Amino acid sequence: MPDDFAPIDLVVVPCLSDNYAFLVHNTDTGETVLVDAPEAAPIQNALRIKGWTLTDILITHHHPDHIDGVAALRNGARVIGAARDAHRLPPLDLQVADGDVIEICGVDTHVLDVSGHTVGHIAFHMPEPELAFTADSLMALGCGRLFEGTPAQMWESLQKLRALPQDTIICSGHEYTETNARFALTLDPDNPDLISRVEGITAARAAGRPTVPSALDEETRTNPFLRADDPGLKATLGMADSSDVDVFAEIRARKDKF
Ligand code: ZN
Ligand code: FE
Repeated sequence: MPDDFAPIDLVVVPCLSDNYAFLVHNTDTGETVLVDAPEAAPIQNALRIKGWTLTDILITHHHPDHIDGVAALRNGARVIGAARDAHRLPPLDLQVADGDVIEICGVDTHVLDVSGHTVGHIAFHMPEPELAFTADSLMALGCGRLFEGTPAQMWESLQKLRALPQDTIICSGHEYTETNARFALTLDPDNPDLISRVEGITAARAAGRPTVPSALDEETRTNPFLRADDPGLKATLGMADSSDVDVFAEIRARKDKF
């Protein structure tokens, strides 16, 4: 993160077998927000090491690997999630919807509906520290499976995220990047940005380092799910005359079978 956002600290917390939770801490105000709670223990451990206490918990969607730790962690923290999913989330202290702007951790936080993986999945964008928490919508070199939404919904959600400032740091929910990379190369084998990114990913995983978060500009240049409107990629798929949504649906379907 650039130095001018110095009061904000970001900690990536690996959870379960391949999930990530995120802690954001404001060193001026002492506030700490958790984004998603796959399980309590590693998050409690990270808080203890830093000496931080949770003030807020943001929930992106209702899947167990994003909410199972909330009950054990909340302990007075304000729990925030989508109003439309309130019936299937842990009890919420604040219900939010697309377009809301709330102050969390001392910074403006924008709520975006990013339905597709589930209907009701939200993302959180903090323009000042240039962070976006996208969980299972936009992922590093990938996107979430369409369990509830349509290809059109997910494509619209991804376009919304792609329209954020390109310096934005994408904090996504899973370490699926190596598989995503092998898949991306099948569609886009001559993309030099992709080839060099994959080298970096392979080296990071060999060293046991996370590939999350990632920068939006590298996703824009290399993530096939953000490139369904790219004429070159359409041509490679033999879909030069197809709509962007149809191309996106084809890429998603191929990934499901990969
Ligand atoms: Zn999920
Ligand atoms: Fe997940």
